[in-house]
Amino acid sequence: MSATPQDKAALDRVGGLSYLNPAAPEPWASFVEQIERVRPHLGALERWIETLKHPKRALIVDVPIERDDGTVAHYEGYRVQHNLSRGPGKGGVRFHPDVTLNEVMALAGWMTIKNAAVGLPFGGAKGGIRVDPASVSKGELQRITRRYTSEIGIVIGPDKDIPAPDVGTNAMTMAIMMDTFSMNRGGTATGVVTGKPIALGGSLGRQEATGRGVFIAAREAARHLRLPIEGARVVVQGFGNVGGIGARMFHDAGARVIAIADHTAILVNEAGIDIPAALEHTAANGGLKGFAGAAPIDPEAFWRLECEFLVPAALEGQLTVERAAGARARIVVEGANGPTTPAADDILHERGILVVPDVLANAGGVTVSYFEWVQDFSSFFWTEDEINERLERIMVAAFTAIWKVAQEKQVSLRTAAFIIACARVLEARAERGLYP
Ligand code: GLU
Repeated sequence: MSATPQDKAALDRVGGLSYLNPAAPEPWASFVEQIERVRPHLGALERWIETLKHPKRALIVDVPIERDDGTVAHYEGYRVQHNLSRGPGKGGVRFHPDVTLNEVMALAGWMTIKNAAVGLPFGGAKGGIRVDPASVSKGELQRITRRYTSEIGIVIGPDKDIPAPDVGTNAMTMAIMMDTFSMNRGGTATGVVTGKPIALGGSLGRQEATGRGVFIAAREAARHLRLPIEGARVVVQGFGNVGGIGARMFHDAGARVIAIADHTAILVNEAGIDIPAALEHTAANGGLKGFAGAAPIDPEAFWRLECEFLVPAALEGQLTVERAAGARARIVVEGANGPTTPAADDILHERGILVVPDVLANAGGVTVSYFEWVQDFSSFFWTEDEINERLERIMVAAFTAIWKVAQEKQVSLRTAAFIIACARVLEARAERGLYP
């Protein structure tokens, strides 16, 4: 499906044991398939397409810590720099028990595409540690974060690769990462990570930027389909920094959020859920479980709810072929990275369900990360209004450009976004030339 002849020969020699193995499970295989779909649209740049199927650099690190009970535990961590043609690496760090190299590679690849699709001057990178943050104490988590940061310290830096929060990490994680990198370097380097607390050079508006961007992308899609937001039914999977804030933005705009889900509960209320109350419940209880304002629903029935907007905002591979075949939404807005498999994507396309792809829909987070990085460099900080205005402008411009290419070439919004992004990355690649 995706390997070059050289890859195939190399894989034969090692019995298929390569991280590039296209037979490896999702999600790297999904990413490679998405890249392949762009091939016919690249013209002369097709010569460079293999670049995108080979991550530039993948670092695997051992993260040993002393646990509170005196034993020693080892965790596996990663930092993948998928592509650096257009600028330093940029992308989040994920703490989750299911993190694998395969997953981090795909997430890094999607960052390359996302940053280029929106026009940010970054390459794509991602990191992660295979750990369940809920299974360790606060002190243990801090030691894990510090050792991981030290280990990847050889590849990150304000002009090399800039981590940020993702699933299982937050502003506090970034504060610890910034401090560890700075202590090792012997001087404070605020620009080494984004998504920091405001007191450490963080940016106003960063925390809610991804959810805000999801809403802007949804609103633009609805405008093109002449669908009013007011009264629209919304189903959201994931109720954290993306799904929770995205749901609140829909709610504030007069939409009816009829179903929400997190790792503790899947809930429905056709009359519309009181989202501020659900957010309060989550903040107090660590999850939606026990929230009285909606009733539990079967996990599969959740995906078949009739709605205008279906917003997967949790993890990859959630919208499977079966769920895509049963979906009764008008528009899917991908708050998560990689929630829809390529085969499910085709089914949604055939069924006339518009998909606003992750690389556009959730780009608000990294866009305000870019603003944070710029503010740190100049040590000059903007107002929240300035940030939100600039975010709005960038998101709307990216949406409009991608919509236009989709119309012209009669392709999905995802393929259109990939066409624009791949052309930008590969043009930079071609102009820089191969070294040596
Ligand atoms: N983790 C977020 C994403 O997947 C943000 C990355 C960043 O701000 O660098 O886009």
